[in-house]
Amino acid sequence: MKTDVLIVGAGPAGIFTALEMLRQGSHKKIIIVEKGAAIEKRHCPKVKTGECMNCKPYCHITTGFSGAGAFSDGKLSLSYEVGGQLPELIGEDYAQKMIDYTDKIYLEFGADSRVEGIGQGEEIKKIRLRAIRAGLKLVDCPIRHLGTEKAQELYHAIQQHLINNGVEIYFGYNCVDLLLEDQKCVGVTIEKKGIREEIRADHTVVATGRRGADWLEKLCEEHGIAHQPGTVDIGVRVEVRNEVMETVNRVLYESKLVGYPKPFKNKVRTFCQNPGGFVSQENYDNDLAVVNGHSYKELKTDNTNLAILCSHNFTEPFNQPIAYAQKVGELTNMLGDGHIMVQRFGDILDGKRTWQNELARSNVRPTLPDAVAGDITAAMPYRAMINIIHFMQAMDEVVPGFAGAETLLYSPELKFYSNRIKMDKQFNTNIAGLHCLGDSSGWTRGLMMASVMGVIMGQHLSKDE
Ligand SMILES: Cc1cc2nc3c(=O)[nH]c(=O)nc-3n(C[C@H](O)[C@H](O)[C@H](O)COP(=O)(O)OP(=O)(O)OC[C@H]3O[C@@H](n4cnc5c(N)ncnc54)[C@H](O)[C@@H]3O)c2cc1C
Repeated sequence: MKTDVLIVGAGPAGIFTALEMLRQGSHKKIIIVEKGAAIEKRHCPKVKTGECMNCKPYCHITTGFSGAGAFSDGKLSLSYEVGGQLPELIGEDYAQKMIDYTDKIYLEFGADSRVEGIGQGEEIKKIRLRAIRAGLKLVDCPIRHLGTEKAQELYHAIQQHLINNGVEIYFGYNCVDLLLEDQKCVGVTIEKKGIREEIRADHTVVATGRRGADWLEKLCEEHGIAHQPGTVDIGVRVEVRNEVMETVNRVLYESKLVGYPKPFKNKVRTFCQNPGGFVSQENYDNDLAVVNGHSYKELKTDNTNLAILCSHNFTEPFNQPIAYAQKVGELTNMLGDGHIMVQRFGDILDGKRTWQNELARSNVRPTLPDAVAGDITAAMPYRAMINIIHFMQAMDEVVPGFAGAETLLYSPELKFYSNRIKMDKQFNTNIAGLHCLGDSSGWTRGLMMASVMGVIMGQHLSKDE
């Protein structure tokens, strides 16, 4: 098989590459290889069974058309300050321009026209003042919220548009390796049901997301793709009653707060806030279960969840941040017997584990019912745990009640986008014909920034016709 452009991974980064090529009027042949299913065939059995079935060969939450975007909350962050380090590579003004451009594409495919978290009203000023007093920075970020069910509709429309306009999408194919000849990437090897075949291409775009980040890291070592270790985020998913977060939810929808708590002064931040949302689980190929969260546009719970993440960097003698985070996750999973673990904040401060019957009598009922009550501190590195405790106590000054005794902390919350591929502004790697996009490239960590990277790639690939 031969094509002009081969895209590995049908997440936002991959699909916006193809979409933008069509919008630019490109006549190049485009093939997308995706190990998961078409979006209408993606179903998480937990909706019926109530518990994670650890689906094989992959988890439907992160795999299939639109990648981790399909079951995400669909919050599009509309500021260049949020969603990854891409602005460092392409420039802040250009990044903002491309976010505005990409946002219009989302609107064309049916995104809600309402934007949350804008304005400088008195209530935002009060929140900011409390943040300043607590030593935290409130980052301004307008947000367009798709909602999980609407995100799926929108990505379904994009999928049909691509197929109707000649983009070939090979579902159920796993890309296992790159084909390299004379320091040039000339395509990939794919596999389905044990049968391998090659697809040759002038341009190969790898956009395999967080779940493909460690695979890409291995390819970097094997094929000499220039990269550098990046940051890995380790943290917890926090869940409180909506009453606690009411003002912040209403005024900002998402409170993006950043702090550098003592004694370590590492960067700690809030991430992915879901008012009235659900705590969720995603499983990686190596059986690692990690916690996440999302919210529907219509179906709401009594709780709000958000992540608190601590950034970790490594230099010498150890420089494998993904492996480090995996070990933390494995240890936590082991203590939770393969499940996500949950503990009350008050129990952490009291130095005791949480028991299942204690959860049952709390005001805050877990929205992840198969999470197992236990002791997350037995697996969380000391430095990360202290960072989280001190950050939550600062947050309590901004949102009174946030660090309440009943507040739930789920673990492990890990973000695997740490290996950063070295590229120029056109996303050329040191291997001719190879480009790396989205979360697996280490330059993005969100829907909008991954989509923007795809759009820019699509424009470059359309130019040389
Ligand atoms: C539950 C949840 C909620 C989220 N909520 C938000 C949110 O509200 N806002 C936000 O900005 N971000 C959110 N995110 C993060 C966001 O979804 C990701 O940042 C974004 O999807 C990254 O896009 P991507 O294209 O880089 O990768 P992905 O979306 O991860 O897509 C990568 C694709 O590549 C495929 N793939 C991987 N390896 C291979 C291979 N070897 N061969 C073939 N195919 C392969 C995968 O199956 C996948 O479909 C959420 C994520 C989750 C899981």
